[in-house]
Amino acid sequence: MKASELFFPTLREVPSEAEVLSHQLLLRAGFIRKATAGVYSYLPLANRVLKKIMSIVREEMDRAGGQEVILPIVQPAELWKKSGRWEVYGDEMFRLKDRHNRDFALGPTHEEIITTLVDADVHSYRHLPLLLYQIQNKYRDEIRPRFGLMRGREFIMKDLYSFDIDEEGLDISYHKMYAAYNRIFQGLKLQYRVVEADSGAIGGNESHEFMVLAENGEAEIVYCENCDYGANTEKAVCFLEESKAEEEQLEREKVHTPGQRTIQDLLDYMSIPKEKQIKTLIYYADEELVAAIVRGDRELNEIKFKNVLGCNQLFMADEAAVKQLCGAGFGSLGPVGMPLKSYVDLEVSQMKNFACGANEDDYHFINVNLGRDFTPAGINDIRNAVAGDSCPVCSAPLYSMRGIEVGHIFKLGTKYSEAMEANFLDQKGKERPMVMGCYGIGISRTMAAAVEQSADENGIVWPLPITPFEVIIVPVNSKNEEQMQAAWSLYEEFKQEGLETIIDDRDERAGVKFKDADLIGIPLRITIGPRSLQEKQVEVKKRTAKDPELVPLDVVSSRVKLMLKEMSKQ
Ligand code: ATP
Ligand code: MG
Repeated sequence: MKASELFFPTLREVPSEAEVLSHQLLLRAGFIRKATAGVYSYLPLANRVLKKIMSIVREEMDRAGGQEVILPIVQPAELWKKSGRWEVYGDEMFRLKDRHNRDFALGPTHEEIITTLVDADVHSYRHLPLLLYQIQNKYRDEIRPRFGLMRGREFIMKDLYSFDIDEEGLDISYHKMYAAYNRIFQGLKLQYRVVEADSGAIGGNESHEFMVLAENGEAEIVYCENCDYGANTEKAVCFLEESKAEEEQLEREKVHTPGQRTIQDLLDYMSIPKEKQIKTLIYYADEELVAAIVRGDRELNEIKFKNVLGCNQLFMADEAAVKQLCGAGFGSLGPVGMPLKSYVDLEVSQMKNFACGANEDDYHFINVNLGRDFTPAGINDIRNAVAGDSCPVCSAPLYSMRGIEVGHIFKLGTKYSEAMEANFLDQKGKERPMVMGCYGIGISRTMAAAVEQSADENGIVWPLPITPFEVIIVPVNSKNEEQMQAAWSLYEEFKQEGLETIIDDRDERAGVKFKDADLIGIPLRITIGPRSLQEKQVEVKKRTAKDPELVPLDVVSSRVKLMLKEMSKQ
């Protein structure tokens, strides 16, 4: 490919809207452009990377017995009503009407469509198991589309659905996918970890997430170095350790705390440690206002809380509504005398003599005790796990790090087949629901994750398996005919050898060309300067190396091929 013809509009400045590295670099290096919030165009370089990711994914899906299909993006509301998800999906679903005023959705996922499809034509155990997959755009009107491709509203996903006759069959399909996903992320040369998702919290449905490790990851994961355990902090089970020494209950007191609203305020004002305070957070669970209570230094886990409540929608209440019902604004709330149902975190049930708001602005209670001073509607695990918590498997202290969820595999069981009536006749002629699993990989998110994990101050450093091109030839002076001639003949030779090559034939200064080559992240750069012609040598430089090596002109292509082979083994 000639750089003069390649559409890769690079930018020198860091675009102000881009907060994370991958977003900045993909914009700067001319890979993507924003159409609107969370919706991007993929330019030629990005397209090449995406195709390589997809081809690795396809290979493994096919190897595991998957068959590729293309399912509709425009999906009728009836199917979603049948599964009960038309309401549950809420605002994240893009909805539209046709000219007859009928409701449709742009597919955020495809369980409804595929279950209906399979139901219509598969009736016997003889045609199962069946593994169908597609690679296609998904549409989700995310609350916070951000970080470029990381959380888009239109994004590319590979989704596979497995249909089996029973749980054992599902186990086999699930493990095939688990293995295939490991091969994929190893093949992509990404550093990742597999973590448990929803481990047990909602009744034993097995689920794993594949997390690419990166400082800017949206997810925090906890993992154990003593055993294999790993989980998303949001989903990790928090263990309640044996209660420490009993503490005597003290008399509750109301104290004047003018202007003190936060946990930190109370620590500074009255030296009450965060572990001796509780946080009271008010939410709308569908229509009803409820209170969630966690220890002062903990974070409420909205997913766990929502599971406990069993509601469809959960969102934070506005201060006006809270004030009207509870008599105080945020910062002065607490469960004592509160007219709402309160749900406390497990850990709070062990706390004694703690402080909380008194439901009166500028007042707090101290020495509050659960049971004596208030009775919660529930005591459950509703906080995020943190480093230092005990491993739920072996009790060793957990560590934490950040990750980007690139893949998610899930045992669905008969949830959708029962709702959509996808049955088959077993060997005895008995009708049974199919047992399903679903398995997703964020293709566009994986591209961003790769950049996030592999870049330096000069730009992207593509992992070899997904680099848009393998080699870039840079003639230092494009006005020098001899240099250009040498560059072109090398380019032709590389093409013959099947190397994916860019020749930077643009009429630009050498500095500009070097900067662009680094920015777009091509693994090998060949520089042809005056010396190449005098001494018949060219500079070959790895994107990650500080210095180039000199290689005789007539063996360059062999040397380049060898270097690429070595790099592919690393
Ligand atoms: P998240 O928790 O990040 O919202 P999810 O659990 O909603 O992800 P799934 O429904 O399991 O995601 O989708 C499968 C895969 O699709 C995810 O593992 C992720 O890689 C990708 N994905 C999900 N949402 C987005 C998005 N908004 N933008 C880009 N990729 C996404
Ligand atoms: Mg999501």
